[in-house]
Amino acid sequence: MTDLQTPAPSHLFYVTRLRRPVVERAKGIHLWTKDGRRFIDGSSGPVAVNIGYGNDVVLDAMRRQMEKTTFAYRLHFENQPAEDLARDLAGRMPGDLDRIFFVSGGSEAVETCIKLARQWAVATGQPKRWKVIARMPSYHGGTLGALSVTGDAALTGHFAEQMRPMPTVPAPTAYRDRDNLSMEERGTKYADMLEEKILAEGPETVVAFIMEPIGGAATNALVAPDSYYARIRQICDRYGILLIHDEVMSGVARTGRFLGGDHWNCRPDIVSLSKGIGSGYVPLGAMAAPMRIVKPVLDMGGFAHGHTYAGNPLACAAGLAVMGEIDRLGLTHNAAARGDDLLEELRNLQKRFPFIGDVRGKGLLTAIEFVADPVTMELLPPEVNIGQRVLDLAYERGLIVYFRRVKGGVQGDCVMIAPPLIATRQDIAEIASILGEAITIAAGEFNLPVNG
Ligand code: PMP
Repeated sequence: MTDLQTPAPSHLFYVTRLRRPVVERAKGIHLWTKDGRRFIDGSSGPVAVNIGYGNDVVLDAMRRQMEKTTFAYRLHFENQPAEDLARDLAGRMPGDLDRIFFVSGGSEAVETCIKLARQWAVATGQPKRWKVIARMPSYHGGTLGALSVTGDAALTGHFAEQMRPMPTVPAPTAYRDRDNLSMEERGTKYADMLEEKILAEGPETVVAFIMEPIGGAATNALVAPDSYYARIRQICDRYGILLIHDEVMSGVARTGRFLGGDHWNCRPDIVSLSKGIGSGYVPLGAMAAPMRIVKPVLDMGGFAHGHTYAGNPLACAAGLAVMGEIDRLGLTHNAAARGDDLLEELRNLQKRFPFIGDVRGKGLLTAIEFVADPVTMELLPPEVNIGQRVLDLAYERGLIVYFRRVKGGVQGDCVMIAPPLIATRQDIAEIASILGEAITIAAGEFNLPVNG
């Protein structure tokens, strides 16, 4: 029995009863366990630890803030770290998105976006607008509101009665379509499905469309054709619908720009952030929105929303230091450059393993997709559990990568590789080498072809 399966007496439970080795400490892109093993974090935890572990500048900023105060309730006091982090983030946002609302995580950030959009509709005399169209598949969080826009039947299934599931359109998996269209035409085709959905639902009932500019947990570093982004914006404008970009995973320099959406001129109306702003130091999330949306809500008596830890001074002091380190260490540039190195390494793996049907991503948000046939992109049968197997084999060899199988089968198993943005060229080579070993063993076990 490996220690992945060892049941140990504990009061804790998460998804299953599977236990993991106990972490002792972490520094840079590495973690060490109590039993003395070293892990290289090829996924930044759940694509969260953007600046790496144990950054001394952030730890010092947190210590300094802790000595002043760790808490002051936002309805009783302003606090300087929240003020400063809001100003910092506002300066990094696209267009007029300069109003920031803090929360404690990604699901809360998504909830906040949905609620602001809805309250804006009420405040502007459009009370019939409540539907938020989402993509299938997609992941936007585990709380009931965020789950209502999450396209993953395995996660939403048990809870359908508890929430109001929202309309969905297919995620733009254009790379897999076998038609005579160019990639750009496919991008337009997927965007046009949004217009068809809006018309079918009744434009007067739709308040927003939510999407990740670059896919994460459900669509694995999915990048749509360029034409998709501009077209989505046009369609939202045509029907007065707000465009929400969920940047919880793709934001904070992860893809080589501050936001994933910054690679295109797609002008979101509301943005959610989390993961990278706390970078594993504190639970922190945020929503950015423009005054044109915030003002009518404030004018009608205020935003009917808030959480105890919103704008927590310790969390915001850490977040501010994280932003400073992103700039000081040049991590946006490094994410882009190391991302190119990583994609090149992954393309080399694809030459060795023809069952890698797709290599994709931007910056240090990348993925490989396993298929039965790289030409037709036909999927492997579900019993070929290659994503989980590669994850386990890599883990046994001290490499962490990210895998989540989404029910419904529009994509093959994918493994996401998304190390901290401080990764060096050498780290990338080490990650690719261990991943290659894991895939070689898995290929043998599943009888899949290997070149050379
Ligand atoms: N949105 C996206 C795009 C995410 O990737 C995640 C987390 N994987 C969430 C929302 C939810 O964030 P959290 O787990 O912090 O609630």
